[in-house]
Amino acid sequence: MTSSASAREFSRYLDAIVELTRQQDSQELLGALLGTLSKSVQSQRVRMLALSNPDHDTDFSENNIQHAMFNDLFDAEFGEPRRLGDDPDLVACVCSGKILNREAPAGRRVVFPIFGVRHVRALLVIEEPAGETLPQELLAKLLQVYSNQTLMLSRSELDPLTGLYNRQTFDDRIRRVVQRAAGQRRAADGRPAAGSCFALFDIDHFKKVNDEFGHLYGDEVLTLLARLMTQSFRHEDLLFRYGGEEFAVVLANADLEIATAALERFRRKVEAYAFPQIGHKTVSVGFTVMGAEQSVEKFVMCADKALYYAKNNGRNQTHCYETLVAAGKLEPVTQAKGDVELF
Ligand code: GH3
Ligand code: MG
Ligand code: MG
Repeated sequence: MTSSASAREFSRYLDAIVELTRQQDSQELLGALLGTLSKSVQSQRVRMLALSNPDHDTDFSENNIQHAMFNDLFDAEFGEPRRLGDDPDLVACVCSGKILNREAPAGRRVVFPIFGVRHVRALLVIEEPAGETLPQELLAKLLQVYSNQTLMLSRSELDPLTGLYNRQTFDDRIRRVVQRAAGQRRAADGRPAAGSCFALFDIDHFKKVNDEFGHLYGDEVLTLLARLMTQSFRHEDLLFRYGGEEFAVVLANADLEIATAALERFRRKVEAYAFPQIGHKTVSVGFTVMGAEQSVEKFVMCADKALYYAKNNGRNQTHCYETLVAAGKLEPVTQAKGDVELF
């Protein structure tokens, strides 16, 4: 490489670092990383795998690797997590903590580890076409910057007990979803953009867990429930701990039918899950279709009304605000308290 070419390359990576360190939330940070990567690699050759562990903490090493699962963050399908152990390259990368390079039939496969506090928590997999060479060391450094930024942002964005987004980030995040949807609607010029739905869950008779087993067991149920949420919903869905034992989800690109299926699937998953020592618990779910012209306060109220309908009608069920109103079972919400219109 000539010195002016390497200066250009250096400048490009400095720009990428500036871009990564400018981001204020983790989703935008991931977007910025992908934007940078797309300048070096075709996007269909990149996969980001988030590791999870149904039984233990989410830091991985040789000791607990047999429990590890992963979700492909770019997989648009609702996917169950897959077993890391089925792919020896991924296991080798997690255990060594080093970049893995392997010749594959159509080129080369490169797996980059992305570190959490102590161990690998995600993997970036790139299929490199034959004849092309990635600037691996630079990419690895860039991923380190990405990783450091993610950790820094997560301290302010996440609820420490469950690892979900906390209540403080709720308004800001949701407002951005609504604004983006409104923007798409305008840009699509008459074609309706795919909407989103907003759901609230509340654990049924949760107080009993604390009363019978103590607060530590209660906390464990909250943590495990959050894990069931991250395993049930798609990466682009936003998951929040809304209050003590209340959770919220924004189901991205989901109409009423898709949201009903996803929420019912989650409700049944919780119902079927045996919480260690405690046994079975259930959740009641209320949701609403997020209209672009509505305020955040209004659709929180609508989902809340549907949730309380579920609570008052036997619990362990999912209800949609719009369906209940259409059936004459709920009075429509007209103006929410403290309603602040966005537009
Ligand atoms: P319902 O089916 O009507 O929702 O009944 P419930 O018992 O779940 O509801 P209630 O609102 O009476 O009780 C909620 C309980 O959640 C009370 C509170 O002590 C507990 N809680 C809230 N936050 C936490 C937490 O962070 N940890 C633990 N262990 N308990 C919590
Ligand atoms: Mg509650
Ligand atoms: Mg409750």
